[in-house]
Amino acid sequence: MGREGKDITWLCLDKPFVKSLKCSLINKQKDEHMKGNVKIDRELCKGCLVCIEFCPKKVIAPTNKVNAAGYVPVTPANMTDCTGCGTCALVCAEVAIEVYRE
Ligand code: SF4
Ligand code: SF4
Repeated sequence: MGREGKDITWLCLDKPFVKSLKCSLINKQKDEHMKGNVKIDRELCKGCLVCIEFCPKKVIAPTNKVNAAGYVPVTPANMTDCTGCGTCALVCAEVAIEVYRE
């Protein structure tokens, strides 16, 4: 079990949604051949960093610029490693992330 699995357990323990997500994440990690890209709406983002915790490729990064609402949003980074798995969009409560697959 990799680091991602531990993080998910830490976040949610017995919540059914997250157990389901954990299985989904493991399956998505098998799709290493896929290429993806993400768009993050910096004005919707509240800087909770959950997407960074859940991204299996760690391709989303924090920024240091405040948005109009006073939050510090995240940004796509190292997109060459993104598989388009969609996990980041799934966990974002603000619906700030769009995922595109190539
Ligand atoms: S999960 Fe959504 S709101 Fe939280 S940091 Fe990522 S993009 Fe921003
Ligand atoms: S789709 Fe999101 S969670 Fe999946 S690899 Fe790309 S940035 Fe990470």
